[in-house]
Order: sequence, then C-alpha cells, then structure tokens
Amino acid sequence: MSNQKTAVVCGAGGFIGGHLVNRLKSEGYFVRGIDLKENEYGNSNADEFTIGDLRDPATAQKACKGMNEVYQLAADMGGAGYIFTGENDAAVMHNSALCNLNVLHGAYLEKVDKIFYSSSACIYPEHNQLDPDNPKCFEGSAYPAAPDSEYGWEKLFSERLYLAYFRNLGVDVRVARFHNIFGPQGTWTGGKEKAPAAFCRKVAETKEGTSFEVWGDGKQTRSFLYIDECLEAVRRLMESDFNGPVNIGSEEMIAINDFAKMVIDISGKDLSIKNIPGPEGVRGRNSDNSLIEEKLNWKPSTPLRIGMEKTYEWISAQVAAISV
Ligand code: NAD
Repeated sequence: MSNQKTAVVCGAGGFIGGHLVNRLKSEGYFVRGIDLKENEYGNSNADEFTIGDLRDPATAQKACKGMNEVYQLAADMGGAGYIFTGENDAAVMHNSALCNLNVLHGAYLEKVDKIFYSSSACIYPEHNQLDPDNPKCFEGSAYPAAPDSEYGWEKLFSERLYLAYFRNLGVDVRVARFHNIFGPQGTWTGGKEKAPAAFCRKVAETKEGTSFEVWGDGKQTRSFLYIDECLEAVRRLMESDFNGPVNIGSEEMIAINDFAKMVIDISGKDLSIKNIPGPEGVRGRNSDNSLIEEKLNWKPSTPLRIGMEKTYEWISAQVAAISV
C-alpha cells in the first residue's frame, strides 16, 4: 500500500475546485475530481475526473470511496445576478442542499478521515451589514440568523448539518465561510461572474473614452480574497484540529466605485464609471479575521491590487481571444 494521501474535490470543474485540485497535486496527493462539467478553463490536473451529479446519493458515495479527505465545494451558485434576483431560489436551495447532504452522508458511510465544507459570508445577517463603513462579520454574529438570500440560508442549514454529523456521528468536519474569492480561471462572463471578474471583463471590453456600468451607487463596500490565499487557509484549516465555522477572507475593504477605478487604473485605459440600478446585495461586507488568526495563525499576504493585476491580465487575454 502506498502512503500517498488521497482526496476528492467535489466541484472540481468550478473555479475554486479547479485550483484546489492543483494545490493538492502540488502537495503530492492523489486527487479525484467530480463535477457536472469539465473544468471550463482546462485548469484541473486531477488524477481521476468523473462527470457526475452529486444530487444522486450513490454517485456522491462512490466519489468518497477510498479517499482520506473530501472537499465539498459543489454548489449551484453565481454572482449577484444569479443569487439576488429571486428567480433561482428554488434551484439554488434544492440543488445545493442535495449535494451537501449526499456528499456528507457518503463521506460518513465510506469512513473518510476528514471532510471540508465551503460555506459563505452570505450567511451573515443583513441588519449587521447596512453600514458600508462598519459591517460586522465575526463568526458569532451569524445568530440570530437573517441572511439576505436563500443561497445564504441554504449555506447556514448545511453548516449546521455538517456540525451535527460531527457531534452525533463523529465525522471529522471542517467548515469555512469564504468571502468573495477571485483570481484567474474563474467565471468571467455569462451572468454568474462576480464583481472582480465582471469589472475586469467590462474594463477590457469598453472602448477608450467611454464609460462602463457599475450596479448600485458604488458606495457599497466589499473585500476580496485572492485564490492562492484562500487555498492556503483551507489547507491550514484541514490540517488543524479546529472544526470552525471560520471566516476565510480579506480585511482589505474597498468601496465598489474605488474597486472599479482600481481596475481601470490597472488597464491603463481612459474610462469612466456609470452607476446604474442593479442587484447589489448588502451595503457593506468585510471579513473579520480575528478567529482565524487566533486558531490558525493565518492572514492574507497578497494586497488586493496584486491579485487584481493577475486577474485582469488573464481576463483581458480571454476577451482579446474571442474578439479576434
Ligand atoms: P463554481 O460555481 O465555479 O463551482 C461550483 C461547481 O459545483 C461548479 O463547477 C458546478 O458545476 C458544480 N456543481 C453544481 N452542482 C453540482 C452537482 N449537482 N453535481 C456535481 N457538481 C455540481 O463556484 P466556486 O466559486 O468555485 O465556489 C466553490 C464553493 O465555494 C461553492 O460551494 C460556493 O458556494 C463557495 N463559495 C464561493 C465563494 C466565491 O467567492 N467564489 C464565496 C463564498 C462561498
């Protein structure tokens, strides 16, 4: 028997899953990937890749078979244009809950060593995020619960589900709440892209001397975490004895108009911003990293601007490739 560690990444066809496969490979793991689709940007170097639907319990259990670690990232998700319109609520809740239930139960039946679950900053109550200058997102502020989307409610349910399996069935779970992860090889067009990718695309597509559209008044605040930082935190959490839930995010908060201006500056183009009505989510959101610093001695080291330079370079190349 080889001593090589084994891991399955559920959602390996997606943005974070694709990068996670590569990170685990670089650490010497045997990696299995599973997703409804291949990785769009050819970014997955999994040893084994299965096209499969995790809404099916047997598929989920099979995916966990023989694995030391399970990373459950599969979810029906998207940017503000997908989550906040209300039109996709039933699909988001149904599809994601089934994936989370089945993968966890499969991991339990197959007696894996550990399972990671990716929750989201979207679980935090809306009423703590009305002041753009002072949003509260420390872990304990999740209750009394009042997420602003069904996506957030489903994530909260699944956090509790994973922690219940730990308490009642001894499954060794790790739960993290991701805050706006971005980077190259993520969705950048089609409606499911998030603000960092959407801004890079819009700036790359917009003609010199004209304006591009930004949803809302631009004063809403957010923070964004570069993908490599996210993976470092995930791996540290997995190696630790701490179950979570814990924030994985950046505390470098920025107003959305300033963020758009940063991308314009990176591009070197002469563009202006036009604020238009659109889905914008909560007024303010920032990670609070006190707990993760205390438990895992981790904080991000890449400034937002550096991560955005790398992301703009990749997305502007994608835009250029389709416009020739
Ligand atoms: P993504 O959409 O790129 O990846 C999710 C993947 O899950 C997709 O490839 C999708 O095809 C797959 N999937 C969906 N339904 C499936 C099914 N029934 N069977 C198999 N695969 C299925 O998203 P991402 O940005 O890589 O996010 C990964 C995880 O992290 C998700 O759970 C998401 O909710 C969470 N998260 C992400 C962010 C972020 O900023 N990207 C923030 C908070 C939480």
